[in-house]
Amino acid sequence: MLDLYNRYARHLQVRYGQRVYKLPVHLPVSCPNRREGAFGCTYCGANGAGFEHESGTFSVAQQLESNKNRIGKRYKAKKFIAYFQSFTNTFMPLEEFRSVMYEAALEDIVEIAVSTRPDCIRIEYLDILQEIKAEKGIEITIELGLQTANYHSLIHVNRGHTLAEYIEAAMLVKQYGFQLCTHLILNLPWDDELDVIESAKLVSVMKSDYVKLHALYIEKGTELARQYQEGSISLCTVEEYQERVILFLEYLSPDIAIQRILGRAPEENTLFANWGQSWWKIRDEIEAKMQERGSYQGKQFHYLGGKGVREFF
Ligand code: SF4
Repeated sequence: MLDLYNRYARHLQVRYGQRVYKLPVHLPVSCPNRREGAFGCTYCGANGAGFEHESGTFSVAQQLESNKNRIGKRYKAKKFIAYFQSFTNTFMPLEEFRSVMYEAALEDIVEIAVSTRPDCIRIEYLDILQEIKAEKGIEITIELGLQTANYHSLIHVNRGHTLAEYIEAAMLVKQYGFQLCTHLILNLPWDDELDVIESAKLVSVMKSDYVKLHALYIEKGTELARQYQEGSISLCTVEEYQERVILFLEYLSPDIAIQRILGRAPEENTLFANWGQSWWKIRDEIEAKMQERGSYQGKQFHYLGGKGVREFF
């Protein structure tokens, strides 16, 4: 029986022939969108939209070793992905970037995943990663935060880049032969189902290898929290979110592996997080609805390849 969607864990198992787990690494970096007192994206909290990480006061190797012991033991894993997760991990001088990337290129690391922004992709950084890939045989994944294909919403959340910069960065990453992961938020207050469909179409066209979906959570002290408290924004219901995820998956290319259909959200210090429910309950309900109605990833993926002249071939 076909699965409902292309699951990341299974994709890794097939790709590497064994269980592979991501080890988060936190660098003491910031983000160009938060410079000089700017608050950055309206939802950006103290940890740069990533809340699960080891302290940046430890070296890359120390963080990898400690996470390897913890995760490796728990899941009996022997191969790992070094995941540079928080803030913008190409926002540093080139030599510093080279040094931390080489530090992560340990023997049992099969892949380095670098999370960054579309406006922080340059060939000089990609050249270093290409060098590591050639020398060490380590796969490279670039994780780009896009959040939505709706370029008006990108302005509303103060992303500091538009859709064009994502397209440029994604094309460059693919030209280097790296894997591309695109992060999206399906419940931005200004977006509707049309934006969700367009986001699915866009990442399919850009041949993103992976997508990671998040539900927007509202951390105290952020600009978004201020807007939420003054009542100028509202969020869709959990049922609407579930419908958006299903719609997104139906329009998405079946080749794209799904890293998450909903992220964990911090329980503390938030005004709103996953509708007060556990992420896995919401995920299970999405899967049950898909099962019930015969929905699956790619069900509506027939809009590319010259749809208008298909009848002649
Ligand atoms: S790109 Fe990430 S780190 Fe930078 S402001 Fe936005 S959420 Fe924060």
